[in-house]
Amino acid sequence: MKQEYDVVVIGAGPAGLAAAVAASDKGATVCLAEREERMGGILKQCIHDGFGLIRFKEKLTGPEYAWRYENMVKERPVDFLSRTFLTTMKPENGGFDLSFVNPEKGVFSVYAGSLVMAMGCRERTDRQIFLHGERPSGIFTAGQAQDFINLKGYMPGHKCVILGSGDIGLIMARRLTLEGAEVQGVYEIGSEPSGLTRNIVQCLEDYNIPLQLETTVTEIHGYDRLEGVTICRVDKNKIPRRETAVRIDCDCLILSVGLIPENDILKPLSVKMDPVTKGPVVDQNLETSFPGIFSCGNALHVNDLVDYVSESGHLAGERAALYGKKKIQVKRRITLNTAGNIQYAVPQNLTLPAKGTVPLFFRPLRSMGKGVAILKQGERIILKKNLNWLKPSEMNRLPIDLSLIDPDGMTPVFSLENREGVHA
Ligand SMILES: Cc1cc2nc3c(=O)[nH]c(=O)nc-3n(C[C@H](O)[C@H](O)[C@H](O)COP(=O)(O)OP(=O)(O)OC[C@H]3O[C@@H](n4cnc5c(N)ncnc54)[C@H](O)[C@@H]3O)c2cc1C
Repeated sequence: MKQEYDVVVIGAGPAGLAAAVAASDKGATVCLAEREERMGGILKQCIHDGFGLIRFKEKLTGPEYAWRYENMVKERPVDFLSRTFLTTMKPENGGFDLSFVNPEKGVFSVYAGSLVMAMGCRERTDRQIFLHGERPSGIFTAGQAQDFINLKGYMPGHKCVILGSGDIGLIMARRLTLEGAEVQGVYEIGSEPSGLTRNIVQCLEDYNIPLQLETTVTEIHGYDRLEGVTICRVDKNKIPRRETAVRIDCDCLILSVGLIPENDILKPLSVKMDPVTKGPVVDQNLETSFPGIFSCGNALHVNDLVDYVSESGHLAGERAALYGKKKIQVKRRITLNTAGNIQYAVPQNLTLPAKGTVPLFFRPLRSMGKGVAILKQGERIILKKNLNWLKPSEMNRLPIDLSLIDPDGMTPVFSLENREGVHA
């Protein structure tokens, strides 16, 4: 007999945990499936503090933050399937037939009335940034190095170079230094760091670790073990200037060169994807273009704060529970267009009519000192807010009052302009 649930949540990281709690609180029967042994997702290996300042008004470590949510899940009637991997999903009778595999049951099926996809993201590797050559040991993604040091107790290397200034790389620069490694520097191809300013200060400046912008690694040296890398300055098109090549001796190269939302499982269902976020296109309920499939956390778009990840999990879980009860009325689904200095905004669509306030998350395309965010429908201004010091590396959150959006009106446009009112 196939077990049936109103809501099945895939992934027990902070997004999935919050979704399971919220769906259960709305009265849904809930199954939470996770491929690893324990709940917590990537937070299990993030042993530094700084998590939960918004959600719990406290500075927690990653495992502490995850533990709070794990307890909330355990207090509710949620079926947790650990070491359980989702392999396929097919639409069936208005819901979904899910095929899982785990060591206890082998291959088995579960029926879900609706689905919350909370599978997080994966890290880009050396091949994905065209760093070819020999394949000596000593080259790790920042998350792999974090796993080795914090969970397994191994040092990935003693003389390290970090490529990319993403948050995990910055955190690992500090971690490696504290563990006694020599971090030669962080090299970033862009003209601005891609991590949060607080991490640049707390992880590099406080430890005198140099950050060199507009620089990349072009060659890897060593056969069995990494012996060194060549770095080059790049021109404005990010093409290495060979005349600037310098060799740096090192036994470890850590890559922090971007995260890719984990959504391959959605491909067979032709769920519409956003080419910028690499996550699905969603409406304000975080429902994808495939009815009954909701997305949250880093699977939806890469977040820099776990508090926002949990917020999106709560919303997706709650709305997935209501979907089973057929409470969402749809009159019109419209696109939320963007203009000006916007890299992306989530949600990309609005399902109308709607009430209540939902968060709009966005990143600017370029850094901006003084900006003004405006949401308009025709000439009518729905929201206008002055914002300072906007950076592509830092996500912004604005609450939108959905009752102000006319379901029969023009397509709303969200823009970020400079204070003088000229598009940046
Ligand atoms: C490597 C890495 C290191 C990070 N370090 C920090 C940090 O130090 N500080 C900080 O503030 N933020 C850090 N972050 C960001 C922050 O932790 C994330 O924003 C947050 O954990 C994302 O939560 P999530 O639930 O969306 O994804 P995750 O925490 O990644 O959880 C996703 C879960 O889904 C499971 N899963 C995936 N596919 C399947 C499947 N098919 N079937 C079953 N289960 C599946 C995974 O095993 C995982 O447990 C890091 C992110 C990454 C990727």
